[in-house]
Amino acid sequence: MGLRIHFVVDPHVFYGIAIFCLVALVRASITDPGRLPENPKIPHGEREFWELCNKCNLMRPKRSHHCSRCGHCVRRMDHHCPWINNCVGEDNHWLFLQLCFYTELLTCYALMFSFCHYYYFLPLKKRNLDLFLVRHELAIMRLAAFMGITMLVGITGLFYTQLIGIITDTTSIEKMSNCCEEISRPRKPWQQTFSEVFGTRWKILWFIPFRQRQPLRVPYHFANHV
Ligand SMILES: [Zn+2]
Ligand SMILES: [Zn+2]
Repeated sequence: MGLRIHFVVDPHVFYGIAIFCLVALVRASITDPGRLPENPKIPHGEREFWELCNKCNLMRPKRSHHCSRCGHCVRRMDHHCPWINNCVGEDNHWLFLQLCFYTELLTCYALMFSFCHYYYFLPLKKRNLDLFLVRHELAIMRLAAFMGITMLVGITGLFYTQLIGIITDTTSIEKMSNCCEEISRPRKPWQQTFSEVFGTRWKILWFIPFRQRQPLRVPYHFANHV
C-alpha cells in the first residue's frame, strides 16, 4: 500500500506524463493534418467518392473540408483548433486526442497535489514555517487548484465530445452540419473507429506520441458526405 501511494506521488511519474503531453502538443501543432496535393492521384474505382472543392478548385475525397483559416482542404477534417494553431484532421487527430488525454491526466495530478497541500501542509504551517520551500507557497497552490478546476471542466467536456465523435465515426464539422441522420452507413465497432484514427490496432500504441502513424486502409464507400 505504502509503495503504491509512493508511486502515485512520485514526481517522476508527473514529469513522465508532462513529457508525453508536451510531445503530443508540439506534434499535433506541427504535423500536417492531411492537406491535399495539387494533383491528387485518385485510386481507380474511387472517383465517385471524390468531389471538387468550390473554394480551392481541387479534387478531394468526401468528408474533407475546406479550412478558411488555413486556406486549404484537409482530409477528414474535425475542426480548426486555435490552441494548437492547426487544423485537426486525418493525420493529426490521434495526436490531438493524446493531447486531451494527457492534459486531463496532468490536471487531475495537479489538483491532487494541491489538495494534499491543503490538507497535509496547511496544518503544519501553524507549527513550522521552515517546512515551506517558497514564500506564498499556499497562495500558489490555491492558484494551481483554481486553474486545475477550470481546466478540468473545459478539457473533460472537450475530451468527452471527442470520444463520442470517434465512437460514432462523426467529425465535429459533420455533427454541426447535422448531415448524418440522413445518411445510412454501416455502423462500425468502436475498436475499428479508434484503430482508424490512431492508425493501428495495437491499443497500447494509442497512448504513445513517439511514433509514426500508418493509415489503415479505409475504403471510401464507408465514408459519408458533408
Ligand atoms: Zn478547398
Ligand atoms: Zn485550419
